Amino acid sequence: MLLQEQWKEVLKKLENEVTAVTYDLWINTLTPARYQNDELILLAPSITAKTQVNQPGIFEKITKCVRSEFTPYTFVSIVEAHEYEESLRQTNEQAEEVETKETPTKSKFNKKYTFENFVVGKSNQVVCAAMQNVAEHPGEKFNPLFIYGGVGLGKTHLLHAVGNYLEEHNKDLNVLYVTCEKFTNDYVESIRNSKKSSNDFREKYRNVDVLMVDDIQFISKKMGTQEEFFHTFNDLYQNNKQIIIASDRSPNEMSALEERLRSRFSSGLIQDIQEPDYETKVAILKKKCSQEGYLVDDDVIDLIAQKSGTNVRDMEGILSKVVFYSSLLNKTHTSLEDAKEALKDYAETERVDLDANKIINTICEFFKVTKEDLISSKRNKEIVEPRQMCIYLINDMLNVPLTAIGTMFGGRDHTTIMHARDKISNQIKTNPHVKMLVNDLKSRLLKN
Ligand code: ADP
Ligand code: MG
Repeated sequence: MLLQEQWKEVLKKLENEVTAVTYDLWINTLTPARYQNDELILLAPSITAKTQVNQPGIFEKITKCVRSEFTPYTFVSIVEAHEYEESLRQTNEQAEEVETKETPTKSKFNKKYTFENFVVGKSNQVVCAAMQNVAEHPGEKFNPLFIYGGVGLGKTHLLHAVGNYLEEHNKDLNVLYVTCEKFTNDYVESIRNSKKSSNDFREKYRNVDVLMVDDIQFISKKMGTQEEFFHTFNDLYQNNKQIIIASDRSPNEMSALEERLRSRFSSGLIQDIQEPDYETKVAILKKKCSQEGYLVDDDVIDLIAQKSGTNVRDMEGILSKVVFYSSLLNKTHTSLEDAKEALKDYAETERVDLDANKIINTICEFFKVTKEDLISSKRNKEIVEPRQMCIYLINDMLNVPLTAIGTMFGGRDHTTIMHARDKISNQIKTNPHVKMLVNDLKSRLLKN
């Protein structure tokens, strides 16, 4: 039967399930775009329509009727039509780019990111030990291994360290490292294209011995990505293949994560990586100096460790800046005096052009939400949290009065703005992850 006809049958059933208004206004505007791999993609003509039909009560009814017409395990994705076209266009372009370059499985790892180069301290010793264990005995003890922690604390470094270790000690294993974004793109491409590419996808992801997925917090509920990940996960897990996942937050803090994936992750080891303490920061800086051949006085190291936040990447950035500054003065050795001078300059340029727009854009980029949604009156968690964070940062970093922020956010009352701000500032006191997140966002914003 044609997809259109099948959908008509679904509509008939739905007509009896929802109110006439809901049916005429929203359900009847949906059109089927594709049915493939047990996924039915429906297009909504507008964001509003999409939001309406994705509401819990309605979405379940749609799924129920779809499943009775298609298969009992059909997964329904409702996306906005433009959004869908845009994602097709993007994957098209990407597909053209990678067509010739890509070799399936076997990833290339950054040679600098090894266990030897990773400084172990109180904040990361457990994570590091778990990763080493997994590298030595993949698929045995800690499976899946889920590591999480703030940006720049070494998660990607450790994943590559496992890859490098296996390349050296266990050459025959197929080790695949992907970012969550790459996984999603591969998947979207596979459902868009022919049967061949969908087979390629399965071949690529299910024939590995170790699968590492970085930055899983970006996993999207859209277009069945979680569904596919779930199947990939089960398949590998049942075959005793090792799965390692990295995220900037714990599974419980990932609001968009489907429950069944959350419970899969909990069946292995979930381990956090914390902010490095002062000694660890000093040790990391010293290691970096010896690796790169920097000649830097000890009190310069102390200064950087004190001045920098907890993001190791930012700290390394400050170190190179200081060394670069003294090289401009034709010095081979960096003294405290030079460092202070270099950092003075750093502090000044930091604050120059920060404004509310930059904060809004950074938040949108970080949380993957649109500016329209951020300003809108939508109340879903995925939008409310970034919005509160944005309000907090604008107030805290720019000292903009609450009423003015209210105007920026679609004419909201200042008490609403105050509530948002207070919510974050209370969370900073009680939840170390929120604190970490705020620090990270601030350090992003203070970068040029
Ligand atoms: P994340 O993935 O957690 O955001 P990365 O793994 O990209 O962080 O780390 C950022 C930078 O900091 C990298 O250059 C990494 O080598 C370095 N780094 C982080 N933690 C350590 C550590 N404990 N020892 C040495 N280098 C580290
Ligand atoms: Mg990373």
